Amino acid sequence: MSITEVDKKYVMNTYNRFPVEIVSGKGSIVYSPEGKRYIDLGSGIGVTAFGIADDEWKAAIIDQISKVQHMSNLYYTEPCGQLAKMLCEKTGMSKVFFSNSGAESNECSIKAARKYAADTKGSDYYTIITLKNSFHGRTITTLAATGQDHYHELFQPLTPGFVHAEPGDIEDMKRLVSENKVAGILIECIQGEGGVIPLDKDYVLAVEKLAKENDILLMVDEVQTGNGRTGALYAYMNYGIHPDIVSTAKGLAGGLPLGATLFSEKVENALGFGEHASTFGGNPVVCSAALSILSRIDDALMEEVKEKSAFVFDFFKDAKGVESVSGMGLMIGIKTTKPAGEVLAKCMENGVLCLTAKDKIRLLPALNIPMDVLKEALEVIKEAAE
Ligand SMILES: *Cc1c(COP(=O)(O)O)cnc(C)c1O
Repeated sequence: MSITEVDKKYVMNTYNRFPVEIVSGKGSIVYSPEGKRYIDLGSGIGVTAFGIADDEWKAAIIDQISKVQHMSNLYYTEPCGQLAKMLCEKTGMSKVFFSNSGAESNECSIKAARKYAADTKGSDYYTIITLKNSFHGRTITTLAATGQDHYHELFQPLTPGFVHAEPGDIEDMKRLVSENKVAGILIECIQGEGGVIPLDKDYVLAVEKLAKENDILLMVDEVQTGNGRTGALYAYMNYGIHPDIVSTAKGLAGGLPLGATLFSEKVENALGFGEHASTFGGNPVVCSAALSILSRIDDALMEEVKEKSAFVFDFFKDAKGVESVSGMGLMIGIKTTKPAGEVLAKCMENGVLCLTAKDKIRLLPALNIPMDVLKEALEVIKEAAE
């Protein structure tokens, strides 16, 4: 049996895979078993922040895996502590909880917000407000947080205590704050799965003000927008807000599974001994990988990300078949006249791997994609969209 047949027979039927197998790669280039070359503009959905098989990242992993690959959280390991320190120093946050995925990093935000509200205002203050069209994960609780009905329908009853506000409409947010006993507001500054839609700055600032005035925790889901993706270490920094809790994952460890939930000083003790845990969370190999990634997300790299972003926006301005371009940094949505799926298929045929988000082509290339490789890929997209 071919790997396609084996996979179809034995892997649970939840992914509608493209007929492409990837066996190797380097940086932003990947290869099929037949040696077909693809430029990877999806980076594993914003995960391989420095591309495939990055040398520095690989060395960090190999070094740590040769020492100790895992200990339980009953003991100290150096990479876990050092990564938490680096995250706090780069953000001004106070403490970090490590998990293994985006959904889990949001679960931790939600648990902590409920616990904090219960401690400070009473256990009936458990409601979390999220936005319509948001995406926060696939667990029963993060599905409840996700503000899209079609994700909910088949899995009722979901975790109670979530209400969804109209994004961009501060009056709707105020209404939900007054109608509910609210523990926290959870937002993506740029809705990713929802179609690469940045929130307006004025709106985000107004949400922050509303949260502060009502002693409600402001939580930002940086799972997709985080770790340099938008030209700042975290997208909230582009908005000038100071969230109480930040959750992140995808790009953080450059291709190994890691979730992190960051807490500001105010909520640093929201969760105490025995109140949250993860067997794999803070794994030393994964944290070493993340240290190699995070230490390289500096001002110079962010300038490059912004330059490449500006180039992409400019490139598609007035391009035939392109209706609009949205996003920030190297998180970009392209609304094409043709169906996005059709454009994506054409690009794949011509050696470029893209993503979609709703009705848009979505690009999440490696942060260090070389300019000439990016240009080559953009030409392919332009031709496919015409
Ligand atoms: C991908 C994503 C998640 C879920 O992350 P997983 O690692 O798949 O659990 C949550 N929130 C946002 C904004 C995401 O983009």
